[in-house]
This record gives sequence, C-alpha cells and structure tokens, in this order.
Amino acid sequence: MIFKGNYIGGRFQKVSGATEKTSEDPGDLGHPVGTFAFSSEEDVNGAVAFALEGFSVWKEKDFKGRDHSIVRFQRALKKRRKDFAFLISREMGKPIRDAIQEVDRMVERVRLAQSEAARISKAHSFSIQRGLRGALRYKPRGVLAIIGPFNFPGYIPNNQILSAILLGNSVVFKPSELTPFVGQVLAELWHEANLPKGVFNLIQGDGSVGRVLAVHEKIHGIIFTGSYSTGQKIREETIHQIGKLVALEMGGKNAAIISKNAALDVAVPDCLLGSFSISGQRCNATSRIILEKKIAKPFLNVFLKSLKNLKIGYGLDEENFMGPLVSHGAMEKYLSRTALAPQENFEVIQKAIPLERKKRGYYVQPSVCLKEVKKGEELKGPYTEEEIFGPNVAIYVVDSLEEAVQVHNASPYGLVASFYSTKREEYERLFKELEVGLLNWNRATIFSNPRLPFGGVKQSGNHHPVGSFVPYLCTVPVAVLENAPLRRRP
Ligand code: NAD
Repeated sequence: MIFKGNYIGGRFQKVSGATEKTSEDPGDLGHPVGTFAFSSEEDVNGAVAFALEGFSVWKEKDFKGRDHSIVRFQRALKKRRKDFAFLISREMGKPIRDAIQEVDRMVERVRLAQSEAARISKAHSFSIQRGLRGALRYKPRGVLAIIGPFNFPGYIPNNQILSAILLGNSVVFKPSELTPFVGQVLAELWHEANLPKGVFNLIQGDGSVGRVLAVHEKIHGIIFTGSYSTGQKIREETIHQIGKLVALEMGGKNAAIISKNAALDVAVPDCLLGSFSISGQRCNATSRIILEKKIAKPFLNVFLKSLKNLKIGYGLDEENFMGPLVSHGAMEKYLSRTALAPQENFEVIQKAIPLERKKRGYYVQPSVCLKEVKKGEELKGPYTEEEIFGPNVAIYVVDSLEEAVQVHNASPYGLVASFYSTKREEYERLFKELEVGLLNWNRATIFSNPRLPFGGVKQSGNHHPVGSFVPYLCTVPVAVLENAPLRRRP
C-alpha cells in the first residue's frame, strides 16, 4: 500500500520524522503491507495545534450537525467493509472471519454511539423549588489523544473516536506501529465525514511518538488501550497534569472457572474459543482455566482432544481458525514465557513451538500447561503472573470453589472471569468474591456487550474506557442551578 503520511488539519501530510519502517504481513513475510514513517515531535505539535482549532469550531455545532458527519462516516465504512477487513487481516494476522466481524461491529457501534450521545446531550433536570431547577449537563472535554492497540486496530480506537467527535471533542489518534495502514484507512474514512479541519487528526509512529502526544500540555485527555507496562509509563509521566483525563484500558489474565456442576458441552467449546481465537491476542482471552477436581478429568479429555483439531494458517484462507502472532517480538515473548512454566511447577501438556506453513510467518502451536494447586501454594513468577498475549492457557486443578477464588484473585490483573455452573447460588457467591470488571456466567471471557461498560480492576485499568462509559469520558459533567428570572404577576 502507498503510505500517505499523517492526517492533520483535514489533509494527509508528509511525515517529517526520519525513521522508516516496514509494516509486515505477519502471516506472509515475503509480501509486506508497505513502508511507513514515524512522526517527529514537530508533527505531533502541529496535530495538536490543529486539534485545538478544530475543537473551537466543533464544540459550537449542535448535536444534529455533528450527527450528520457520523452518518457520512458510517456510509463510507460500509462501502469499504470488505477491503478494510482484508487489510486488518493482513496487517495484524487475524483470520478474515474475525476481521469482518470487527468491521461489522464498527458499523453497528455507530447507532449505539448516536443514542448514547443523544442521551448525554440532553440536560437531566429536576425542580428544587418554585422557579429553581437543578440539572446535570455535559460539555465536551476538549482535545483527546486516542492511543490504540494492534489487536483490534479498527474497533477499539474507533469507538472512542466516534463518541469523542459526536460529543464535540477533537481527536489526535495514534494507531499502533504494527497497524499503521489500518490507521491510515480510518483517517480516509473520517475524511469522508467532511468534518471541519482539525477535528480528526492522525499521527503515525511508535511509543516515543505516543509519549510526546500523551504528555503534551495542550491535550485535555488520553484514552489509551494497550499493555500494562505502557499504561503505567503514561500514568507516571502525566501524574502532575492533574486536570488531564488519563483513562487506561490494559491487559488481562482472565480465568474460566469450571465448577463440578458445570455443563461441559458449554464450557469446553467456550474455553477453546476463549483461549485460542485470534491466537490468544485479546485482552479478554481465557489465559487461565481453573477446574474443580471432580470435573478435571472429563473436561481435560474433551478439551485436549479438540485442541488437536484447530486449523492454523494464513488469515486470508477461510478454513483457518487461528492465524499467526502479530510480530517477531510477540512470537519470542510467547516462546520464552511459556518455557518458564516448568520452573513454576507446571506440567507442559502441549508445548509452544514455531510452526512452518506454506507462507513464511509467525505461526505457533497453541500450548497448554497444567498444575494441581497445593494447599497454601504461592502463585508467583513471570509465567503465572504476566500476560503472555499468545495462544497459551494455564490450567489449575483445585479442590473447591473457595480455592478457585483464591487462585483467581492471586493474579495482578482483574479484567474478565467466566464462571461455569448450572447453580445460580454458586454464581452469586462468586460474583461477590471475584476481583474483576466483567463476569460472564456460562459465557466465554471473550464475549461482551457494548451497552455495558468494559474495563477491569487492578492492573487491567481504570475508568473503563472501551464500552458504554466512553461517552462519559469524552465529556465533563457540570452541575447547574438555574434560577429562572421571576415573572411579575399582572
Ligand atoms: P502496547 O502497550 O505495546 O501499545 C499500545 C499503544 O501504545 C501503541 O499505539 C503504542 O505505540 C503506544 N505506546 C507505546 N509506548 C508508549 C508511551 N510511552 N506513551 C504513549 N504511547 C505509547 O500494546 P499492544 O501490544 O499494541 O496491545 C496489546 C495490549 O493491549 C495487551 O496488553 C492487551 O491486553 C491490551 N488491550 C487491552 C484491551 C482492553 O480493552 N482492556 C483491548 C485491547 C488490547
């Protein structure tokens, strides 16, 4: 693909940074997607200056006026559904079926963003006494930096961009350096929305460019989705910018807990899907399975047998369930972290190894490690605690649901948990105990609904900046008292 540069002030502009990079197709290394360049600090400053100008115009538009632009964006997105999905699949490696689903969810999300924004744009008022009313009104926050991850390079940042723009903000978007061309197409689609100059801006680059944007004094808020280590750096570097929103959506070490009362015909396929779809590169992937001992054998029999049938190969070949990992670095991390499992007393049931396919790429074998947890055992170590972000699942066998909760909560993350049981009272008990932001009862960790908030506790993040809370992050609440001028009686 041809690189068009940054999108600043309503047009594509040459990137002035010196670093040139290749955007790979991780499933076909012989045919890269294209070459691109990283922005300089000057580019970032230029984008923020335009975003400030754009904001001053855009915030004056009423909701209907803004909504027209969103409709144009949606029309453009629908038109490019197939080629956009094709690009997502090539640039990050996910199977085409998953990429089409991502684009379709982006289209659907528009309607939800519209209704959420319409609701929030209306004042919620109440009478206090004759002539005096109280109201909660929302104003746009200002210029928002939206920093995106590679794994849902369209859906996740675009949710945030949509609500931000609908609610009167301007945006500087930095896509992942692993998916720059997906970012470029998003900019082309927003160009079709015919927004005033500076309302939507795109800057290309890696973490150093993201850092310049995040710490910029003129940015009113950061909505970040990515790893815990990056989120922690952003938080540290902006700690003195008290008025700046720093919303962090980070990783997970999500568990499916299988009670002895679980329906295995539901739990097993869900766990396979949760652990290995998109090669485990989901914040809400099932990276741990915690089994009550009584159900361990029947669960493992079916789970391990089904594991052998997963088709792995190029994302654009429709029969494949799992594509490659996104990069050489991701593959190295997957292989090196899973190799630590035996030191942390796990038995390796299926080893993580690189796989050869017709096309050269970062293909790996899914891996499974197993441990029977001893009473009072400390669950520590890089394999146990860190997010691997690959097709690995650590299976724990425990004596009781109490122990399952302990194993679950030993993780420094707290994004999603699934609980499988036919008994509601068990689910209600676990609801109280599990340290998570999302809990799915008899439903895989990877499922969520955009009408609900999405986000976790502990190292998984703050403010829930992906699901239904996004509009609130894009606005500042203002509490008003309105004392209407007293009318004289005739
Ligand atoms: P990453 O942290 O490597 O990068 C995310 C973004 O941050 C990229 O655009 C990157 O360029 C930028 N960045 C890097 N250093 C920066 C800095 N110092 N300042 C500002 N920006 C910086 O994450 P990734 O590998 O792209 O994505 C995978 C991670 O994202 C996983 O941890 C996954 O769990 C998480 N994730 C979370 C959710 C969620 O909803 N909780 C969703 C998707 C992905």
